[in-house]
Amino acid sequence: MSVIVQKFGGTSVADTEKIAAAARKAIRAHQEGHQVIVVVSAMGKNTDQLIALAHELTQDPPAREMDMLLSTGEQVSVALMAMAVHSLGHKAISLTGGQVGITTDSTHTKARIRSISTDRLRRALETGHIVIVAGFQGIDEELNITTLGRGGSDTTAVAIAAVLNAQACEIFTDVDGVYTTDPRLLPEARKVDTISYDEMLELASLGAGVLHNRSVEFAKKFSVPLHVRSSFSDVLGTIVTDESSIQPDPVSGAALVEREARITVEEVPDLPGTNLLLFSRIAQENIPVDMIVQSEGSEGKASISFTVPEADLPRAILVTENVAHTLGASAVSHDGQVAKLSVVGWGMSEATGVAEQMFQALADAKINIHMITTSEIKISVLINRQQARAALRSVHQVFQLHQPSKDRSTSDKVIEREITQIDPVDVVDYLRNMEDLTVHAVSLDCTQGRLTIHGVPDIPGWAAQVFQSLAREKVFIDMIVQGAGHAGRADLSLTVRREDVSRAEEVIRSLLVQSEDKPELNAVAKIAKLSVSGIGMRSHTEVAIRIFQALARHKINIEMVNTSEFRMNVVISDKEGTEALQALQEEFKQIATAEPSH
Ligand code: ADP
Ligand code: ASP
Ligand code: MG
Repeated sequence: MSVIVQKFGGTSVADTEKIAAAARKAIRAHQEGHQVIVVVSAMGKNTDQLIALAHELTQDPPAREMDMLLSTGEQVSVALMAMAVHSLGHKAISLTGGQVGITTDSTHTKARIRSISTDRLRRALETGHIVIVAGFQGIDEELNITTLGRGGSDTTAVAIAAVLNAQACEIFTDVDGVYTTDPRLLPEARKVDTISYDEMLELASLGAGVLHNRSVEFAKKFSVPLHVRSSFSDVLGTIVTDESSIQPDPVSGAALVEREARITVEEVPDLPGTNLLLFSRIAQENIPVDMIVQSEGSEGKASISFTVPEADLPRAILVTENVAHTLGASAVSHDGQVAKLSVVGWGMSEATGVAEQMFQALADAKINIHMITTSEIKISVLINRQQARAALRSVHQVFQLHQPSKDRSTSDKVIEREITQIDPVDVVDYLRNMEDLTVHAVSLDCTQGRLTIHGVPDIPGWAAQVFQSLAREKVFIDMIVQGAGHAGRADLSLTVRREDVSRAEEVIRSLLVQSEDKPELNAVAKIAKLSVSGIGMRSHTEVAIRIFQALARHKINIEMVNTSEFRMNVVISDKEGTEALQALQEEFKQIATAEPSH
């Protein structure tokens, strides 16, 4: 018999009437002949209230006790849901994460699922019960209650769907699907019918709160078909699936994180190991680092900028100042009033002009770009927080995201992507525990060169001009990074195909001669780009550190970095490409042979 997993979020079980409505949906699926598992979140804002309660006592509650407290929210709602099903004349049983046998590691408040036992679930299903499971929680080896991080009920639902090989996992929520951007921020946002796992993963980790990003990792890893839909109607929602069944749009959605903060370490001696020291110290403090931008340095010095959640800024500044001193950097600067705006699209990697359109839209709205990072399927920019909503609106508009997909048009022509990955080396499918990092391949791309403009004036419209001229010449651009400006100037680096380097150089030079600010251009005909691809590249923050570590051991200097959910790329000098490839292969093979971390 087929299994269906249905998940109801907080607003969908906010009161007993809503719980009864959710129970009816579950019963309907059961009557249609499915075995039904229902995963439930805590009622309404219950989790927030519990957190507030803890903070009335202490600003720093022990994480273990926090999990003990927060898990009660879901325990209330599963019991009520089971009663609701029962009162409607059907058999139901509620189970906590521990009773199901959802085992996790012991990282309280953000535990990762290791395994899920299916015995009890199967027994209950086979005896005709609708099984109601508490979302967001598990137990560790010592039977301590753990939670999976805010929004984690989505992850419980998808993980259960994966182990039971469910026919579908339906995420019932307060919107009727995934939208081109958060409809609460932009009323003209439009529901999309389908979206790929990779796009959804990017959107989820770039701020689209509709799905917990780890739930999408699970869905992708175990090919679970996801259906995001409304709790309050029966309309079809959004199907999240693999990209083969999806029309690739250059841009399919936009996301905003309004509360970020930026830190810049200025004029760090450009030596191997710098990134490693900085980011491993920050990781030790458990501060999540988001955008990392290191643009090519000049005179042996580079500046490294990164963003952290606004709430972590004071701690992050302290650590960074310490490390900066050790590294001999000239200063540490920060900005606590920034927002990150991103666009995501599976078709982006085959289109020219996406960056140009985005930067032009921002320039037209007089919005200055502080930082830029890109990956194969996303472009993120850091902007002033007060301009965040306006920026989201102009970008949403320029990519016609308010229009149905087939009517969308971009001014650019989709080009054949010729970049060949040279020497892709299969590493391992590393998976002992369900949520472990999976590394598929390490590859070396020797087809690109780089251009860096030093001293770009930090004013609206500059990036737009550069990318407009390059798009006009049909120069395909792969990576783009712009670090935070210093004294009103910033450095902008981009990689292009080797055969395009001199043409791109000419185009940019002719732009620069017209500029009064006299930025300098540096072209490098050949660079090496190394990529490590897999699932969980960003949520497993140690990936970046392992890459930095492996390269530092070989004294290889990192010139540029970018990350997406499925790949982390670093640019190094052309002549070190092969050695770096071997170093990374070795590094990720070591993971494969390491002892399971129990
Ligand atoms: P639940 O409690 O059901 O898990 P959440 O609040 O976690 O619900 O997620 C639903 C909310 O996500 C929506 O109300 C919406 O404001 C927000 N959201 C953010 N980005 C998007 C998006 N791209 N599409 C749809 N909803 C989004
Ligand atoms: N109740 C938890 C939270 O509010 C988990 C969830 O709703 O997914 O974050
Ligand atoms: Mg949610």
